[in-house]
Amino acid sequence: MKAIPYGKQDIQQDDIDAVISALTSDYLTQGPRILEFEKAFAAYTGAKYAVAVANGTAALHLSAMVLNVQPGDKVITTAITFAASANCVRYCGGEVVFCDIDPETYLLDLRQVRSLLESHPRNTFKGIIPVDFAGYPVNLEAFRQLADEYGLWIIEDACHSPGAYFTDSKGVRQHCGNGNFADLSVFSFHPVKHIAAGEGGMVTTNSEALYKKLMLLRTHGITRDQDAFINGQELASAGEDATNYPGWYMEMQTLGFNYRLTDFQAALGLSQLKKADAGLARRKEIAKRYDTAFKGHPAIQSLGLELQEQDTSHAYHLYVIQVKKRLGLYNSLRQDNIFPQIHYIPVHLMPYYQQQGWKKGDLPVAEDYYAHCLSLPMYPSLSNEEQDFVIDRILKYFS
Ligand SMILES: *Cc1c(COP(=O)(O)O)cnc(C)c1O
Repeated sequence: MKAIPYGKQDIQQDDIDAVISALTSDYLTQGPRILEFEKAFAAYTGAKYAVAVANGTAALHLSAMVLNVQPGDKVITTAITFAASANCVRYCGGEVVFCDIDPETYLLDLRQVRSLLESHPRNTFKGIIPVDFAGYPVNLEAFRQLADEYGLWIIEDACHSPGAYFTDSKGVRQHCGNGNFADLSVFSFHPVKHIAAGEGGMVTTNSEALYKKLMLLRTHGITRDQDAFINGQELASAGEDATNYPGWYMEMQTLGFNYRLTDFQAALGLSQLKKADAGLARRKEIAKRYDTAFKGHPAIQSLGLELQEQDTSHAYHLYVIQVKKRLGLYNSLRQDNIFPQIHYIPVHLMPYYQQQGWKKGDLPVAEDYYAHCLSLPMYPSLSNEEQDFVIDRILKYFS
């Protein structure tokens, strides 16, 4: 049997055709497909604005910048995430404060964040970066209330959760990244994520002011918008007798980056986005089959078994089980050409963050989760036969 990874992109002929048509168009970058992708993605999430960028990490970095993270600013996030969720704070010189996870959801624990806030003087913290880990949506309504009490901003790291939603206290479905509660939401188009563009990222928001800042910083801090110009047209057209800004004129107004997405990546992203709902439906089927297979098993714990589908829609970027003898199972599956993964080694235990003072024992729930977690193969093109093989090998291992 061919290798079965934990995650994998699904590229079909229509995706290939979309990329080829971008490659043979007039624009490889800075063309019309970027805006088209942004509009389609904003519509998909329900947000007013979307800004496409080079990758999810760039999306996080720009988000931290437009929220004005300054050296020494303290920002709260979870340790059970990809390092970039925390690193974006460090790029701006801020300080990352890791808070523990909820053992029921593996998400940043609202109660722990509240007690962290309560146990410090007001204005100690600037913002919170909750992560829709594995695709399970954070209850952002609750986080928003807490954030408002303390004057904090929220960046939702939604890299795992396009298409997921939770139901708010009024019974309304709130899709991840819709801009109703978080100031900014961040997505990634890395091939293991739901929508693959090779590399790529997106920031969504309902704030026009933040949208404009993101657009400026994505391209070197340069604007060509006449209404936004700072210098007068006299300087712009020095030596000429122009009565208006000449066509070449632009201004670099702040220190930005080249964090652009290319047009052929946007073409792939657009084509993939059209299939996102079908992919999500398949992920749910796969999750249900795992749930059924492991139900009641004494050695295998899975979050999926306890989830209430009617209120919360899980995007199943990952299907995580918790087991004893995790290393043994991991090694045994690899011998069968099945490649599960660990999500994640707690970020606060990375040497870089240990150098910032974090140590083992600081986040007992996250550390205990890490000791037992295993992400099983989960991607739309995983066949039932392949999944049955995975299930069979796991059950055999424990029998
Ligand atoms: C993938 C991922 C990122 C980073 O995205 P890239 O596109 O790889 O830079 C950030 N946060 C989380 C939770 C992710 O899974």
